Amino acid sequence: MKGYAVCRRAAGLGTHAPSAEPGVAAVTKQLAHGRQRGSWALLAAMVLSAGIVPALATPLPDRATQGQLVVASVQPGEQVWVGNRALRVDADGRYVFGIARDAASAITVRIRHVDGHTSTHRLRVTPRDWPIERVDGVPPRTVDPPPDIAARIAREQSRVAEARSLDSALDGFGQSFIWPVSGRISGRFGSERRYNGKHGSPHSGMDIAAPAGTPVRAPASGRVIFADRDLYLTGGTLVIDHGHGVSSVFLHLSRLDVAVGDRIDQGQVIAAVGATGRASGPHLHWGMNWFDTRLDPLLVVPAPATHRP
Ligand SMILES: [Zn+2]
Repeated sequence: MKGYAVCRRAAGLGTHAPSAEPGVAAVTKQLAHGRQRGSWALLAAMVLSAGIVPALATPLPDRATQGQLVVASVQPGEQVWVGNRALRVDADGRYVFGIARDAASAITVRIRHVDGHTSTHRLRVTPRDWPIERVDGVPPRTVDPPPDIAARIAREQSRVAEARSLDSALDGFGQSFIWPVSGRISGRFGSERRYNGKHGSPHSGMDIAAPAGTPVRAPASGRVIFADRDLYLTGGTLVIDHGHGVSSVFLHLSRLDVAVGDRIDQGQVIAAVGATGRASGPHLHWGMNWFDTRLDPLLVVPAPATHRP
């Protein structure tokens, strides 16, 4: 598949246990008090006076797919764990988590309700078949880097992993995501990569073919948490935090239009498409993460019919 515009982001590390949302305890107290009095009118008045409109809880689905981002909600004040990780729950009760590419057949979610009892939900995980993609014609130094380059790559990957471990209260993760550029899908999430015939890591995002210089738009609102014009494998690299551990990465950029700390609106131009780093042609690699778990952007925002390969 020579000339195929592709890239690879190697695996990183980094986990972080979030703390409970400040203010949740106060809402919990009010809810409990309201229920004891048996007066929903009183409860509503108290919640409204606190400036919080109670949202209807969005229950967990029974099933999810490997690589999927799951957004659900509980009653405000309830607490949620996925495995051993305590999730950040916002004032509306919303929470989010991701299902890894290689996730086991079921995931356990625990919810502690406002009355103190805990319920356990088993989320069944639908497995996927991951295709093999052969990528020939990339520079040999990027497939088998010499020791000094390997050390540089490791340093750069740990910086990106640290950015992805952030757990902020931003709420962009709950928006309807949009595609950052228009174009043909030239590489899919999760496929097993063979570079110049050698085994590589699974593809950590989605590649969209587009001419160099095409503006890249933020798929959802957020804040820039990593920006570097020249990483060895990924070239011009941006990471946008969408909140609650959900982030987007954009690789091989020819131009960065934003800097670390900038707040970003959905649809804002943040960069331009390029072919920097290990790329065999201009394209945008868009990766989505939940902390160190890689997710499939196509499960967050499906491809328009015109963009399917
Ligand atoms: Zn890629």
